Amino acid sequence: MPRRETIDFEFVESVPAKISDGRVYVSIRFATIIHKCCCGCGTEIVTPLSPAGWSLTFNGETITLHPSIGNWGTRCKSHYWIRDNRVIWARQFSEEEIEAVRLEDQIAYEHHYTEKTTSTPLKTNKVSHNEKNLSGWWARVKSFFHDSG
Ligand SMILES: [Zn+2]
Repeated sequence: MPRRETIDFEFVESVPAKISDGRVYVSIRFATIIHKCCCGCGTEIVTPLSPAGWSLTFNGETITLHPSIGNWGTRCKSHYWIRDNRVIWARQFSEEEIEAVRLEDQIAYEHHYTEKTTSTPLKTNKVSHNEKNLSGWWARVKSFFHDSG
């Protein structure tokens, strides 16, 4: 599968039953974004919108996500930015670099929620600062998927 260079997006209430390739689904209600990995591997990537997670910029026509999407938990280990509906690919990280990022960001996403692959922000945040926000976020994500039936 070729890597995508562009995406489109849709604002949704909760996660749709079918996630289309190349489309970023934004739920303001659940402060959560879901999309399929832009490499084409089909992995669904969940990104929380929060001060400790991602920020969304919507300028009326295009969306931008910050920071980058680092899919360390997937086999493809894709790393890219979504900026103005474009996918900007980073170079492949080495295992050592990925490990270093993971160590800096030891938030146990997988521990709480194993069915979906969750990306972790590249920026380093202190876990103690984020734990409270994250547990609230996990509750939201669970209802986010639950709502979709
Ligand atoms: Zn992928």
